[in-house]
Amino acid sequence: MAAVAAARRGARVTVLERMQRVGKKVLATGNGRCNLTNLRLGEEHYHGGGARFAMGIINQFGVAETMTFFEQLGLLMRAEEDGKVFPSTDQASAVLDLLRDELERLGVETVCEAAVQRVEKQGSTFNCVTADNRTFSADRVIVAAGGKSSPNLGSNGAGFKIAEALGHAIVRPVPALVQLKIDAPFLKQLQGVRVQGMVEIRVGETRRREAGEILFTDYGLSGIAVMDLSRIASQALDARQAVTVALDLFPGISEDALAEQLEKRFAVHPARTAEFALVGLLHKRLASVVLRAAGIEALGQPCGELTREQIKALAALMKQWRMTCVGTQSWMFSQVTAGGVDVRQVDRRTLESKIMPGAYFCGEVLDVDADCGGYNLQWAWSSGHLAGTHAAH
Ligand SMILES: Cc1cc2nc3c(=O)[nH]c(=O)nc-3n(C[C@H](O)[C@H](O)[C@H](O)COP(=O)(O)OP(=O)(O)OC[C@H]3O[C@@H](n4cnc5c(N)ncnc54)[C@H](O)[C@@H]3O)c2cc1C
Repeated sequence: MAAVAAARRGARVTVLERMQRVGKKVLATGNGRCNLTNLRLGEEHYHGGGARFAMGIINQFGVAETMTFFEQLGLLMRAEEDGKVFPSTDQASAVLDLLRDELERLGVETVCEAAVQRVEKQGSTFNCVTADNRTFSADRVIVAAGGKSSPNLGSNGAGFKIAEALGHAIVRPVPALVQLKIDAPFLKQLQGVRVQGMVEIRVGETRRREAGEILFTDYGLSGIAVMDLSRIASQALDARQAVTVALDLFPGISEDALAEQLEKRFAVHPARTAEFALVGLLHKRLASVVLRAAGIEALGQPCGELTREQIKALAALMKQWRMTCVGTQSWMFSQVTAGGVDVRQVDRRTLESKIMPGAYFCGEVLDVDADCGGYNLQWAWSSGHLAGTHAAH
């Protein structure tokens, strides 16, 4: 996007890409469908030191401008109920193919397998030196090297090193939009179970909640609600703080109302075992785990014999099922990076470095990250467009 924007303003542009082809990550986005933006865009979806900074940039080239840009390239899009926008063909490759075609039309030179190791400024010229010692010189340089997440798709943290060498401070990067590791004996039993619920992350007195799908895995928890909260867990664990995850399996009703419902339910079929009495209410594989976690070990006892205290304990567990988070999955599994180039050293109107004039930053290399739902790509499009436009100007 930065290269297209700069070339459209008449600049002679070269893209240096360390992989064998550009835009490999785009192909992996949205499970191969590319959730390229979201009609319901707001500051609440952006995080990091740069959340407000991000909105200032996005407001200059927003969702409407982005969709017009892609429409003009020939991309038909459709929005889903939750505002997520995808190519009508559900093919991420269409987004990449059309961007690459535009680069070609504009005469942008693309050099693949060119891993930039450092950028040096000599007088008013930037020299980009690659790992195999080639030097590319330019009047302006745009660092669009992404974060550290999913290094197999290209971004391996090299952008942070380049920025640091240019004199920029880096907010310590941690994996975000990533699955959480949980210390619990029942994970193997629950692997693959999906439920709708509320996830709460607790760090000290801080509590953040998110509703949505929760997926149990053999190492812990995944699902969109978990992923969206993972940056908080990631940062806390990095600072050696304790992290608790609490699941609410019935966010729609209070604990007392749930206890009452359970009591009535057990009274209708009192001879059913405690375990079977939960079938139809909970995912079948959750029943025994939830009962045991609530301190009810005799799964075969008739549910009619459960005491009021046991029923209350069961309701309390279902409303606040606490687990200890012991880590996150690695960079390889994380979708975005929290942290990055400190936005305070970057001009909020142009994305030019305040430390090294002529250098620009855009996308995930900056300390901006966002929720699942097309918000991260929108940040990449908006900031790329702005950096390209101003670098060319
Ligand atoms: C599996 C997955 C699914 C995702 N799905 C979505 C989604 O559906 N919607 C959404 O909004 N976001 C999604 N994201 C996040 C989104 O893809 C990123 O936030 C976005 O691609 C960041 O754009 P970027 O251009 O800043 O960095 P990147 O897309 O990471 O691109 C950086 C490029 O720079 C290259 N590079 C890095 N270092 C060097 C170097 N030293 N020299 C030369 N080249 C270098 C890399 O090879 C790469 O091609 C997803 C991410 C992943 C991993």
